[in-house]
Amino acid sequence: MDYSFTEEQQMFRDMFTGFVAKEIEPMAEHMDNDEAIPVALLRKSAMQGFLGALLPEDYGGAALDAISYILLLEEVAKSCMSMAMVLHVHNGLAGQAIRLHGSVAQQEAWLPALAEGSVIGAWAFAEADGSGLADLQTRAIPDGAGYRLNGAKAWVSNASIAGLLVVLAATPEGPTAFLVPADSPGLKLGARDKTLGMRGVQVHPLYLDNVEVAADMVLGQPGAAQQLLDSVNNFSRLAMATIALGGAHHALELGVNFAIERKQFGVEIAQKGAIQAFIADSAVEVETLRSQIYRCASLADQNNLDGEAASIAKLWANRVAYQVANRMIQTHGGYGYILDYAIGRVFRDCRTIEGIEGGNRSQQTAIARSILAAHGLELA
Ligand SMILES: Cc1cc2nc3c(=O)[nH]c(=O)nc-3n(C[C@H](O)[C@H](O)[C@H](O)COP(=O)(O)OP(=O)(O)OC[C@H]3O[C@@H](n4cnc5c(N)ncnc54)[C@H](O)[C@@H]3O)c2cc1C
Repeated sequence: MDYSFTEEQQMFRDMFTGFVAKEIEPMAEHMDNDEAIPVALLRKSAMQGFLGALLPEDYGGAALDAISYILLLEEVAKSCMSMAMVLHVHNGLAGQAIRLHGSVAQQEAWLPALAEGSVIGAWAFAEADGSGLADLQTRAIPDGAGYRLNGAKAWVSNASIAGLLVVLAATPEGPTAFLVPADSPGLKLGARDKTLGMRGVQVHPLYLDNVEVAADMVLGQPGAAQQLLDSVNNFSRLAMATIALGGAHHALELGVNFAIERKQFGVEIAQKGAIQAFIADSAVEVETLRSQIYRCASLADQNNLDGEAASIAKLWANRVAYQVANRMIQTHGGYGYILDYAIGRVFRDCRTIEGIEGGNRSQQTAIARSILAAHGLELA
């Protein structure tokens, strides 16, 4: 197996690192405090091609391969997990769904605007009672040449900055994905959800009250939302695992720097065995997670990333992010609880990642289901 990056991937990574150091790192604390990503930063990111990262070059995108895209998310998340999440919802959910399932007319209408960042994408799947396709309470009733959408969505990231939402709703043909412009009459945002971490991501509930959607805004075929989810889910879980990796890496860096700078009775706390154990265990976890994620990205580039591998990565990422950030808070001692220190933000962000794209219990269920199925047992 070849574990090296191509020259192009290394060049991209250097470019991402440079942009993050110059534009994102100085803003990361502000984004947490202001609970928003500045529009100017999104514009600059668009000029670097980050908003069209996965979109085809014909539509103004950068057409990154999976490894390069994962490197982008990792580098951004090393500074700001919120920014990485905003980029991924736009690129990896809304953008990918249109790239993979949109008609030519839909792609021509939306992909250039998504790539240049004049339209931000959002993904409205989850509902207050859960996020299963079979249980969708949002309904799309056929009406004339299109549909009328009614219902409520929960947890819509990017909601207040989005120009276009991919909304999943039940239709008589089955669960269906729709493209819904944010200015559609009848579409309303609820009050901003104040989140523990990843506070730069603007998360809102979304209400649909008789929202009219033309038939040509169905994304893919009516009743075919499962295929659409199947095509984005595994990679999206890997993307969230990558954001966790960036956060865990950042937490470890902060802890190491603090342990070297902080002296107790004239001696760096890094000289203490307990602190060294924290650092070593965390480094082992971060590096094994990184290897696993790069391997999965390579599988994604070969169209071979399956649900089991993606869930293994996400489960491990949830744990590593939490454990490493928790140890590094402890490394900071009392300073870990003082909000002037970045470790507090990183800890909150790392804790929040489990709540997105499936928590540990649902990853365990997915992994066990896949392994048992390979042994001939289908779980109920
Ligand atoms: C910051 C943030 C941003 C998000 N952004 C988006 C977005 O843009 N678009 C979108 O569609 N969604 C988004 N989500 C939603 C997210 O992906 C989940 O769907 C949502 O958080 C699930 O929350 P819930 O309260 O319904 O959890 P529940 O499903 O009620 O789970 C609660 C607990 O029960 C456990 N549990 C649930 N079912 C089982 C089971 N069968 N067996 C064992 N344990 C189980 C869970 O692991 C969890 O610990 C976001 C969430 C967050 C936190």
